[in-house]
Amino acid sequence: MGWAIALHGGAGDIPLSLPPDRRQPREDALRRCLRIGVEALKSQMPPLDVVELVVRELENCPHYNAGRGSVLTSKGTVEMEAAIMDGNTKKCGAVSGLTTVVNAISLARLVMEKTPHIYLAFDGAEEFAKEQGVETVDSSHFITPENIERLKQAKEANRVQIDYTQPIQNDAKKEPPMPNGDTQLGTVGCVAVDSHGNLASATSTGGLVNKMAGRIGDTPLIGAGTYANEFCAVSATGKGEAIIRGTVARDVAAMMEFKGVSLEEATKCIVEERTPKGTVGLVAVSAKGEIAMPYNTTGMFRACASEDGYSEIAIWSSDLKEVSDVH
Ligand code: ASP
Repeated sequence: MGWAIALHGGAGDIPLSLPPDRRQPREDALRRCLRIGVEALKSQMPPLDVVELVVRELENCPHYNAGRGSVLTSKGTVEMEAAIMDGNTKKCGAVSGLTTVVNAISLARLVMEKTPHIYLAFDGAEEFAKEQGVETVDSSHFITPENIERLKQAKEANRVQIDYTQPIQNDAKKEPPMPNGDTQLGTVGCVAVDSHGNLASATSTGGLVNKMAGRIGDTPLIGAGTYANEFCAVSATGKGEAIIRGTVARDVAAMMEFKGVSLEEATKCIVEERTPKGTVGLVAVSAKGEIAMPYNTTGMFRACASEDGYSEIAIWSSDLKEVSDVH
């Protein structure tokens, strides 16, 4: 048994032709955030603090669909959401509909620790953020030119999407990807376990491009996109509606709890057999320090490391990279 950490920057239809200028900054961000998480675990930081720290870093990175890089609703607004959960205590917190909060994940943590509730959304969540003095900015800060372009393309094709080749609804004609080849921008998540088996999970997102205002995805829903108990911690990504229907994160934990199967078996079953192809990816760690990062999409931005010296950063299945310098 030892510590382990895994993070993701979204799963979806990520073309192998993704140009280096789009791929590199995301891989660099994964590597940097993995290092931060590894250092924190090595210095005995509790897993709950580690996942919050790593997700904050990913939220601050404009290359991912969370915090600064959040995609836009059909009204051109931003509505960010996040959830965090501690495995041992099953304490959790979640937020939705944020328009000014710089780090949604930290507000979710405050909901967990400072309120009798689990989930705050929209005006109430924003008021709570102001009360708690968390960093807020004008919502224009989150509305980047790239995301205005993404919304424009999604509207032209009349679809709601996590990418530009996989319509979620409104069977639309296939549109060519963005001229810069940037076809994927992903939700972020992190799971961690320390050498005592304490587990935690955190996920944060801007949701789907061109989503309806008010739409809530899987990310903040405990048991769908985010879950942790004494067996494992799970953070999912992909098409939120499919992940909610499949109660993906909780089902992984339930299989371990009630069927006694390994993390690998549980995650493989949920991703390969229980959720429609092309809809989901997840990162998970078990109390024993095992790691699983399966997906049934084309790819998933992901990274992991464990105490035994193993680490990897990858997008597709063919590009597995061993990196030893994160330890
Ligand atoms: N699951 C997120 C959502 O549906 C999107 C993603 O994972 O990229 O809101």
